[in-house]
Amino acid sequence: MTITHSLGFPRIGVQRELKRAQEAYWAGSLTAQELELTGQELRARHWQIQADSGLAHVPVGDFAWYDQILEWTTFLGAVPARFGQHGQDDVALDTLFRMARGRAPTGTPVAACEMTKWFDTNYHYIVPELAPEQEYRIARSYLFDQVREAQALGHQVKPVIPGPLTWLWLGKGDAFTDGPTDLGKLALLDQLLPVYQQVLAQLQALGVEWVQIDEPALVMDLPQAWRDAYRRVYQALSASGPSVLLTTYFGGLEDNVSVLDGLPVQGLHIDLVRAPEQLDSLASVLGDDQVLSLGVIDGRNIWRTDLDQVKSQVAALAAQRGNKLWLAPSCSLLHVPVDLAVEHELDDELRSWLSFAVQKLDELRVLAAALKASPDTASLQALEVQRVALEQRRNSPRIHNPVVQQRMQGVAELNRGRPVFAKRIQAQQHKLGLPAYPTTTIGSFPQTSEIRVLRRDWRSGALGDAAYQQGIRDEIEKVIRFQERIGLDVLVHGEPERNDMVEYFGELLGGFAFTQYGWVQSYGSRCVKPPVIFGDVVRLAPMTVAWSGYAQSLTAKPVKGMLTGPVTILQWSFVRDDQPRATTCQQLALALRDEIEDLEAAGIGIIQIDEPAFREGLPLRRASWAAYLDWAVDSFRLSTGIVNDETQIHTHMCYSEFNDIIEAIAAMDADVITIETSRSKMELLSAFENFQYPNDIGPGVYDIHTPNVPKESWMVDLMKKAASRLPPERLWVNPDCGLKTRGWPETEAALTAMVSAAHALRYT
Ligand code: GLN
Ligand code: ZN
Repeated sequence: MTITHSLGFPRIGVQRELKRAQEAYWAGSLTAQELELTGQELRARHWQIQADSGLAHVPVGDFAWYDQILEWTTFLGAVPARFGQHGQDDVALDTLFRMARGRAPTGTPVAACEMTKWFDTNYHYIVPELAPEQEYRIARSYLFDQVREAQALGHQVKPVIPGPLTWLWLGKGDAFTDGPTDLGKLALLDQLLPVYQQVLAQLQALGVEWVQIDEPALVMDLPQAWRDAYRRVYQALSASGPSVLLTTYFGGLEDNVSVLDGLPVQGLHIDLVRAPEQLDSLASVLGDDQVLSLGVIDGRNIWRTDLDQVKSQVAALAAQRGNKLWLAPSCSLLHVPVDLAVEHELDDELRSWLSFAVQKLDELRVLAAALKASPDTASLQALEVQRVALEQRRNSPRIHNPVVQQRMQGVAELNRGRPVFAKRIQAQQHKLGLPAYPTTTIGSFPQTSEIRVLRRDWRSGALGDAAYQQGIRDEIEKVIRFQERIGLDVLVHGEPERNDMVEYFGELLGGFAFTQYGWVQSYGSRCVKPPVIFGDVVRLAPMTVAWSGYAQSLTAKPVKGMLTGPVTILQWSFVRDDQPRATTCQQLALALRDEIEDLEAAGIGIIQIDEPAFREGLPLRRASWAAYLDWAVDSFRLSTGIVNDETQIHTHMCYSEFNDIIEAIAAMDADVITIETSRSKMELLSAFENFQYPNDIGPGVYDIHTPNVPKESWMVDLMKKAASRLPPERLWVNPDCGLKTRGWPETEAALTAMVSAAHALRYT
């Protein structure tokens, strides 16, 4: 019989209970015991859901207070000295919170650890801080405690831990400057391996049969020394103790498959959703006594699985390998919402196409039953329901829009190119008449509680359309007058009508749906609710023209129109799986192209298309970068290629590494790019300098994440630094990012100082 299991379950809770409890604890309104109780309840509930789905064993160790990597880092005792950890003491929960957030109910506030994206997901982990000669030990007991906790509830458990090589790969340290694969890190294995062996021995003593060791780094480009290390480590870890399920996801092993050749590991999990082509090569390297676990249910997206297709994909192997074939979601279900059953506002048709964590486990149950020699009737019925839903989805007129299809036929012929920058910029300068070092902002202004209440009341129906529109207009007028008063050169309307830069556009475009509770953990207690792109994307009506046009009518200064770019909308949504991402991106680009055309016609002379997620769309393997960058750049150019020479196109990117993709950024050919640079003191500009980036640049002169008001002299110095590296006539002066999370007093002070800084630069 085929065994089913799961790699991890979302811990946040269907009502975001974990978020609420953590935030209450940080605020001092919940005790540590009460917090612990919430954790226990959530774990028990999630284990039960998983056990009820017939899984052979439930994962333990996927629960985390803030982040599963931080949980493990503290477990290993890898706590940087500034957190004041003493000798052999256990690491306290508040130390963990201070590492994550810089402060906790007890302990001295201190600089938090760095946080960054978990592979190509929107989940962020806390980066382990590594140092040569770092010592490791078992410094917490949560893993063993939770194993006992699950066993006491009657569950078969499978502990889940991050693998030593992935943990090192994710870690950083001053001594390791060569990126994730810095060879120096491998020396730490001598310290690390014995601790892993102790952990495995202790788990075995608790009666654990299988341990899942997560090594997603095995799907990345790895140097040979790292592959060799993998072999060495897993030879050691599978030599004694519980059976080891070496677990990979988010891609294929590809050239790293050599690691497995003759490796005595007891089992291997691979992601068949992302990399179905790896099945044959891996099935043949594994011996008959090794477990092959196939990730067949998409852990990264929310569509119902085509179980017939999976069944035909795995049936032969299931018959051949028997209980040495396991089936699972492709990765931890951390990346999808908890339960579709609580969504009451989705229509039945759309609902029938979707599957969240709870439903995915049920799909797994049905699949396993269907693979039996004589499946039971209920499972056959479930399979039939699934079949009908998928069939309906494939043929639904809600998905296929003939107008969009028609337009897509001719998409290759649509104009993307603009005349050379030197020519355009002349026309733009002639029209706009801006001074040297023009000043602007990134788009949003403080989102006060009054604005939030206004939007909320309008949504709930408590406020009528006319009153709402008047409220937004008043806010726009206030923002325009403010910008005029302090002397900014290029104004914005302030984005008061937007709750979120992707949601706003999604709600106005056809082909999108929204959930009520479809929360996915982004970092710590923060969750996001990504829109669902289910069908052809179509612009139903102008989306921003009225607001931007109104703003422009109030002032003689240029007002910048504000749009979210096609790649960012794609990247921050759940995307349909029945056509390539590139195609969906092109449809988004066409919708934006129409909006840009209308903005221009309405007299908006500057239009900004934000692409903060441009870099995160980059595939994990370098060999796939070019193809992605090709369509991502093309989509941007497809949306902007419609404008006249004198219309100025801006783009904005933040919080990403630009070195690797600078050519693609240049190929987007925006007239102006504003980027976040102040935290690195303009270091990020080196990419633009080395490449001799040809167009205008606004390197952010202050960090918008703090209420601290930057000094004028500090901003002048930063800009001088920029001007020593880039042609001064190409430079703009602006903050790092949007101001929506800031308050008015600091915004006024900071922007006033920024305008003075620009004046000082002009006259020196
Ligand atoms: N225009 C957006 C804003 O100002 C950009 C936000 C972002 O870069 N994430 O809020
Ligand atoms: Zn930004």
